[in-house]
Amino acid sequence: MSKPRPSSQPTLDVIVPVYNEEAGIRQFHALLIDSINPLKDHCRVIYVNDGSTDATQQILLSLAQADPRVTVVELSRNFGHQAALTAGLDLANADYVVTLDGDGQHPPSLIAEMLALARQGYDIVLTQRIEAGRSAGFKRWSSNAFYRLINRMGETKILPGGADFRLMNRTVVEKLKTMREYQRFLRGMVAWMGFKTVILPFQPPDRLAGQSKYSLRKMLRLGMNAVFSFSLMPLYAAVTIGGIFLLLALAEAIYVLSFWISGNTNRLAPGWSSLMFMLLIIGGSLMVTLGLIGIYIGYIFQEVKRRPIYLVRSMTPEPSDAGYEESH
Ligand code: UDP
Ligand code: MG
Repeated sequence: MSKPRPSSQPTLDVIVPVYNEEAGIRQFHALLIDSINPLKDHCRVIYVNDGSTDATQQILLSLAQADPRVTVVELSRNFGHQAALTAGLDLANADYVVTLDGDGQHPPSLIAEMLALARQGYDIVLTQRIEAGRSAGFKRWSSNAFYRLINRMGETKILPGGADFRLMNRTVVEKLKTMREYQRFLRGMVAWMGFKTVILPFQPPDRLAGQSKYSLRKMLRLGMNAVFSFSLMPLYAAVTIGGIFLLLALAEAIYVLSFWISGNTNRLAPGWSSLMFMLLIIGGSLMVTLGLIGIYIGYIFQEVKRRPIYLVRSMTPEPSDAGYEESH
């Protein structure tokens, strides 16, 4: 049972979203405990089980039983990494809140350094992955291309190589909790908030065990959320393309008219191929534009439903014991 925290001691909540991490979660927990034990803060670890279908929940419950600092939130199904992080943040009420992945790729040993920076007066400590030569390949390439794109498009600048491994102080977390959009890209939302921010670079170790739970589909979904919820640029681009075609049409009209004025209509070739070409281009750009508008409408549709971002199936220890209030 979590006891009321002594008021003089600073408090720290560590939030760890996990999805099917049975193979590595014990080892991760041991690393995490080693890193938080020396801290002078009163710590609590909140594991959010994002609908795991393996033995993750049982392992988490045994960790909670062995250590009163551990809270386990079980979601009713797999809602995704960003929703799981949100579930943890909603419970957090400490002076400082750290979020990190439960696969060992976000080294818990950095927490002490993050706290030191927060005590120097920074509201947010972001971490940035620097991959020294290794782990090239598709993931890294696509991540780089993605950040270049998003930073060119939107007004909110997002740190390349940024991870959902960060520290926020209580003020920032409280503000973040008020942002209830359904399509979430926390890296963007935190960047949008501003506040005094510092960047801590780190070299991500390999996963402790198991495989990445970010399928290509989930990665694309996250990328779409980042683009469409932070930028109207695609719509502006579509309008611009439409404008260019209108100008082309005007030029064409003037060109044809000049034949009429000079009385040379017989010299106008029956331009079937050019007509087809224009038809295809204009038809295609109309479809793309409609599709873009459709995506935005889809996003609006998702938001106006005002569904909760996640549903909690169980909480250990019980919320009444821990003094939580559930808020969505
Ligand atoms: N995760 C989650 N829900 C998901 C996918 C992932 O809670 O739907 C967790 C996962 O268990 C891990 C973290 O989010 O703790 C990051 O996922 P992962 O390591 O698979 O992503 P990657 O590091 O490959 O980007
Ligand atoms: Mg990982």
